[in-house]
Amino acid sequence: MNKGKLIVFSAPSGSGKTTIVQHLLRKTDLALEFSISATSRSPRGQEIDGKDYYFLSIDQFKTKIANDEFLEFEEVYSNNFYGTLKSEVERIWKTGKAVIFDIDVVGGLNIAKQFPQETLSIFVKPPNKIELEKRLRGRATETEQKIQMRLAKADKELNLALKFDAIITNDNLKIAKQEAYQLVSKFLK
Ligand code: 5GP
Repeated sequence: MNKGKLIVFSAPSGSGKTTIVQHLLRKTDLALEFSISATSRSPRGQEIDGKDYYFLSIDQFKTKIANDEFLEFEEVYSNNFYGTLKSEVERIWKTGKAVIFDIDVVGGLNIAKQFPQETLSIFVKPPNKIELEKRLRGRATETEQKIQMRLAKADKELNLALKFDAIITNDNLKIAKQEAYQLVSKFLK
């Protein structure tokens, strides 16, 4: 299998990484394709199976773990599994495009460790905790308990930021998008 390149975006949820990843996907000159993760959580809002995630039952997810089908997976929140299928990365590499990931911090570092030569890892940092909390609440799709869970996880994740190749602080979305574009286009050249 010819290896292609991998672009990993990781961040505490609510830091704006998804918006940045979507922005880069629209830049056709970068020729990126989104790695659709598998998850055992239920679809949220307008999410579509096979586009945003491959939505699996916990049993289906565990069968794929047993069959060694994941490049990396994690129980990100209790009973909510998330993972990158090997078949997904191979599918994208075959098209000649680079793979772009929107995954959690530990998963992102895991990919970078497995493909040190092929990966650019970028950490997106929220400007501060108050702003992060505001963004998570602004989503209004989550219960208070889930918001608290995400905030606790964010604390741990911020400590891992220095292990990434680059850090983008997202206090101005327009600038953050430009920085992301520069980093990725330089890496792909
Ligand atoms: P959400 O439920 O908000 O879609 O995602 C929760 C967290 O799981 C986010 O930090 C998201 O980036 C992460 N995540 C999504 N896909 C994967 C994956 O394939 N592997 C890992 N390790 N984390 C993922």
